[in-house]
Amino acid sequence: MNNTKPKAAVLTLGCKVNQFESSSLSESLTSAGYDVVDQPVGVELVVINTCTVTQKADQEALALIRRLKRHNPAAHIVATGCLAQSNPELLAETGLVSMVLGQDEKARLLSHLGDLNTCGGEIVRVAAPSGLAGDFGAPAPERTRAFYKIQDGCSAYCAYCAVPMSRGPSRSLDLDRVLEGLRTYLERGLSEVVLCGIHLGHWGRDLAAPLSLASLLHTIGGEISPDEETFRLRLSSVEPLEVDEEIIEAYEMYPWLAPHFHLPLQSGSDHVLELMGRPYRAGQFQTLVGRLKDKWPWAGIGVDVMAGFPGETDEDFQATYDLLKDLPITYFHVFPYSRRPGTRAADSPEQVAEHVKRARVMELKALNQARRHEFARLNSGRRETGLVENTPHRASGRLKVLTGNYLSALLPEGFNASAGSLIPVKLSESRNEWSLLEAEPVFS
Ligand code: SF4
Repeated sequence: MNNTKPKAAVLTLGCKVNQFESSSLSESLTSAGYDVVDQPVGVELVVINTCTVTQKADQEALALIRRLKRHNPAAHIVATGCLAQSNPELLAETGLVSMVLGQDEKARLLSHLGDLNTCGGEIVRVAAPSGLAGDFGAPAPERTRAFYKIQDGCSAYCAYCAVPMSRGPSRSLDLDRVLEGLRTYLERGLSEVVLCGIHLGHWGRDLAAPLSLASLLHTIGGEISPDEETFRLRLSSVEPLEVDEEIIEAYEMYPWLAPHFHLPLQSGSDHVLELMGRPYRAGQFQTLVGRLKDKWPWAGIGVDVMAGFPGETDEDFQATYDLLKDLPITYFHVFPYSRRPGTRAADSPEQVAEHVKRARVMELKALNQARRHEFARLNSGRRETGLVENTPHRASGRLKVLTGNYLSALLPEGFNASAGSLIPVKLSESRNEWSLLEAEPVFS
């Protein structure tokens, strides 16, 4: 009798929400008897959880599919995720995928797999996304920290963004299930959980008895009361206006909240923010960052920033650059504007030339590099708590830690610590890599 399990791999493109959902897909495939492996070598099934945030993300998904089929023509490829939802034809037309599943069907992957062997061509199953974020539960994390999706979808319709079309309206996991998931992670001994969502700051607003993200933090504080020595909670990206007084108050009250804020600024020009349909202005953003830094001088503050939005003039770009130069931001994620079909900005006649976009991206990236370096240098000599990661630093083989304020540092050569544990460390500058620090464990 052949007891060999069929092999499967789940590959993820895109954001933390996709990473969370891929963990859940891996877990359900494992429970259905698959041997889920990291590398798609010799597998019968590959599930690709796609992203469609930019044209580049679409191209990456297509290139990955072509590569997989070239190396393993017999494998079934199931494409799901945001690109599968918003443009299933693009994937089906490749003739290389066996199945295209939309967002809701992703959560029901197992029930679709039986059809793979009975059908000759590709199967496309995509409906308007309406499922609750909770369809996914709290899967076993594949890393030392868990990304826990508690909200899905977005109703904001910013002028450049296709996500509301691919993910549907904002929906929240209800309070009891959020708490149940967190307790599961604590029981599993996880030291860090990252609460994430597509529009995390809107968590709770759609529930029958509406709640807020701040009220959730207070409930976690009251009912679970994590021990900051062994556990920390991080919030993924929260819109600037949604980091409100109540959220700040929660950060003041609970030391288990990691001092790290990720704020999607997008532009420092009020004119561009208006065109984008973003609800805040540069002055409000400046005030918020100032307040956060006053309260937590060592907080990590990251921003998403976009260059080359249609109608962005040289003066607009300069306003963004100057704002970022003057504010104590610790890192940026820089994106060139990408024309997404179906969005308002895609039809704008004021598209910015590609070479201008590229030059602006380069300028922002150079500023980002300088800023990261400076923040790493300023942290030299400080004590922090580091989460030991399970993948060692590639060049040196040394273990790495991630600090609460989102810095990476290397533990001394030969030093052993369990992956996923929190250890106190003293940071110092590294002679080798500018953005990495050295982390000396502190035993007292
Ligand atoms: S808030 Fe705007 S940018 Fe963010 S997901 Fe919603 S529509 Fe997209």
